[in-house]
Amino acid sequence: MSLIVQKYGGTSVAGVNRIKNVAERIVGAKKAGNSVVAVVSALGGKTDELIRMAKEINPFPSDREMDMLMSTGEQMSSALLAMAVHSLGYDAISLTGGQVGIMTDDSHTKARIVSIDPEKVSKEIEIGRIVIVAGFQGVSSSRDITTLGRGGSDTTAVALAAVLKADACEIYTDVDGVYTADPRIVPEARKISVISYEEMLEMASLGAKVMQARSVEFAKKYDVPIHVRSSFNNEDGTFIVKEAKEMEEAVVRGVTVARNEAKVTLSKVPDIPGIAAKVFKNIAESNINIDMIIQNVSEHGTTDLTFTVVKSDLDKLLGTIENISKEIGIEGFKTDEDIAKVSVVGIGMKSHAGVAAIMFNALAETGINIEMISTSEIKISCVIREEYAEKAVRILHEKFELENK
Ligand code: ADP
Ligand code: ASP
Ligand code: MG
Repeated sequence: MSLIVQKYGGTSVAGVNRIKNVAERIVGAKKAGNSVVAVVSALGGKTDELIRMAKEINPFPSDREMDMLMSTGEQMSSALLAMAVHSLGYDAISLTGGQVGIMTDDSHTKARIVSIDPEKVSKEIEIGRIVIVAGFQGVSSSRDITTLGRGGSDTTAVALAAVLKADACEIYTDVDGVYTADPRIVPEARKISVISYEEMLEMASLGAKVMQARSVEFAKKYDVPIHVRSSFNNEDGTFIVKEAKEMEEAVVRGVTVARNEAKVTLSKVPDIPGIAAKVFKNIAESNINIDMIIQNVSEHGTTDLTFTVVKSDLDKLLGTIENISKEIGIEGFKTDEDIAKVSVVGIGMKSHAGVAAIMFNALAETGINIEMISTSEIKISCVIREEYAEKAVRILHEKFELENK
């Protein structure tokens, strides 16, 4: 008998009829002779709604209370889904992250899974029950409920598949698989049939929200093969695997855009050894991740330091900048939220020169100014004005001929 972990995203359970549809799929897998663990997201839009309500009540809600609040979304959908399975005559039990034994660190709203004790899930599976797990959540060593960052149900599913040594991990969503670009932006985007963990991890980290980046990290680390597919049809979707020999040769696999970052510039920072270390130590201690960093040429012993952070960390960052200012003395700072980061990703770049030139040229021809650049072996990212984000994605998709391969 095979063990299948299935994950259903928010759109797939947005409303009573869709929940019933998902219950039928789960029961279908059970009837076919499998043990099934289904991880479920909150009903589509629910998490956003909860965040909006919280901010109306308190513009700076505590992260701990946010986790108490946001985790209820998945608790609701998991219970409803269990009831839907019951009404089809099958035995099912819904469990929260804590009940499943998902232990995390205490970094509320973006916690990392530290360990999973699968005993309870395994027992439930043994007695033949369908296990329905509230995604996106765990519990810290101080028994506080934590959440795993937006899109975190993907990580719940992959982590459970790893620890349960599942035979398959299926991510059911509202698109047919992973595309060469977000199909909502580029209608000509093509479904990728097989993609490596490495490329998927870059695409996810750079804005392709179809999979949460951390879930792909998990899959890569524990070698969990993933099948991303639609919950509305039975077509094969995209297989995410270690290394796909049958993968088509492509220099650029996909184009992504991230609009969740902001640019921060600290002005007139003393240009002496140890200053950057102090600045970024302060920021790291506030649990804020930095992405790109640029330091300008020094003038009169001071320099400007520009970096990007996710917008949701900006409020927290402002407090940190005050501390930095006290510690090392800076003239001031600016934040700019109207930016987007467009990226091209592909393993083929390791052995092909010239991708950057094509990318920069395509943006230049379209009159799009590049404000920051960062590269790795398998990706090139440019920060541009947000208003050009979609145009840039479409142009790059076309230039790299992603639709006709
Ligand atoms: P779920 O609620 O099922 O987790 P998400 O909204 O998190 O679904 O992710 C699916 C969405 O990701 C799609 O609707 C699509 O708009 C978006 N997306 C962004 N980039 C890509 C891509 N390269 N391929 C497929 N979907 C993408
Ligand atoms: N409900 C959470 C979110 O909207 C987690 C998830 O959907 O994976 O981010
Ligand atoms: Mg998602």
